[in-house]
Amino acid sequence: MTTTTPSSTQAAAPSGAQQLGPMELAAMTQAGLDSQPITREQALAILQAPDAMTLAIVAAAGQVRRHHFGTEVLVNHLVNIKSGMCPEDCNYCSQSIDSSAEIMKYSWAPKDEITAAVKAGVSQGASTICLVASGRSPSRREVEHVAGIVEEIKKDHPEVTVCTCLGFLDDEKAARLKEAGSDRYNHNLNTAEERYEDICSTHTFADRQNTVQHASDAGLSPCSGLIAGMGETDEQLVDVVFALRELDVDSVPVNFLLPFEGTPLESYKQLTPMKCLRILSMVRLVHPNKEVRSAAGREYHLRSLQPMVLEVCNSIFLGDYLTSEGQIASQDLQMITDSGFQIKGKVTATQVEGHHGTPSVTVKACGSSSSGCGGCSSAGSGCGGHSHAEPDEQHRVDAAGVPIRQRGVGAGV
Ligand code: SF4
Repeated sequence: MTTTTPSSTQAAAPSGAQQLGPMELAAMTQAGLDSQPITREQALAILQAPDAMTLAIVAAAGQVRRHHFGTEVLVNHLVNIKSGMCPEDCNYCSQSIDSSAEIMKYSWAPKDEITAAVKAGVSQGASTICLVASGRSPSRREVEHVAGIVEEIKKDHPEVTVCTCLGFLDDEKAARLKEAGSDRYNHNLNTAEERYEDICSTHTFADRQNTVQHASDAGLSPCSGLIAGMGETDEQLVDVVFALRELDVDSVPVNFLLPFEGTPLESYKQLTPMKCLRILSMVRLVHPNKEVRSAAGREYHLRSLQPMVLEVCNSIFLGDYLTSEGQIASQDLQMITDSGFQIKGKVTATQVEGHHGTPSVTVKACGSSSSGCGGCSSAGSGCGGHSHAEPDEQHRVDAAGVPIRQRGVGAGV
């Protein structure tokens, strides 16, 4: 595995990159309205457009978002059920055994804490619960353990979509999760095939493709996304987004690298808010009628432009990520309503049996894929479901400026 120097996401447009004007943007919008993807050349042109064009690009992608999804926002809640100590060497990941990032590490979280985290997330408006466990691949026994958790969640919250993210699956493991009631499986491709050996030596791009396919074959809705900002070229970003299209994924989480201190990518901080908006817009226009989720790194990289992601993405995570803190849930919800959007399928607190306010949990949730997990999407974004009742308590930011998650199995709600 090699670690390249950070550079490429801000690279100057190569000669031959398509120029974007009003006619080209109108053509891309029309393709999206017709549920057709833009071309690779158009996708590259979006990434390499100047900052001054970014709002026009967001507006084009926004028309497509509103055509297919109106003003609804799907709220996902991460619950990190097993954190850190992963034997894989994904170099973006704070949960790898090779990382010295000072994250929370724990084996399987107690069921009562998971139950509390799920209730907290659902009561705040989450309609999808993402159960994420670090590790290469779950054993049969571990799959059985998670299947039991899924069954409990579906019994208590039948209206909620349950997404599991446990690492590599075979057909048998995927079938068991489906049988237990898991609706979706997350396993990110993360980056382009030609770059994969630069970010991980313990598994391959094909391994990840295979797990997405196993999940899909078992009837689990395939969720798979990427992490931008790992030193990839714009062409490689386009490659991975089209590779996800070839897998016909239903949901595309877009993570922006969180450069945790203690990981090989700790110095990778090349993304700008404008570049992030162009990346999200490109993903929307390649996957016009699929769920596009702004995942880990939203707060860190978008900063004051966070609300603009809603113009392009129809899905976000609520609260914290796998190993990093996100914006607190109440601010996420306020951002949605202030921006003129509505939470999809919101369940009110009174519908959550036994809910008396946000429960306090003591084990921290997982979250984002930049923090990594079982190949999960929040590759930076991660799971969560914990409480932010006292948001400043134990707040800690590492030398790279990444807020390290300090609380419970569910994040930041
Ligand atoms: S991304 Fe997943 S597989 Fe890779 S080190 Fe992190 S937890 Fe392990």
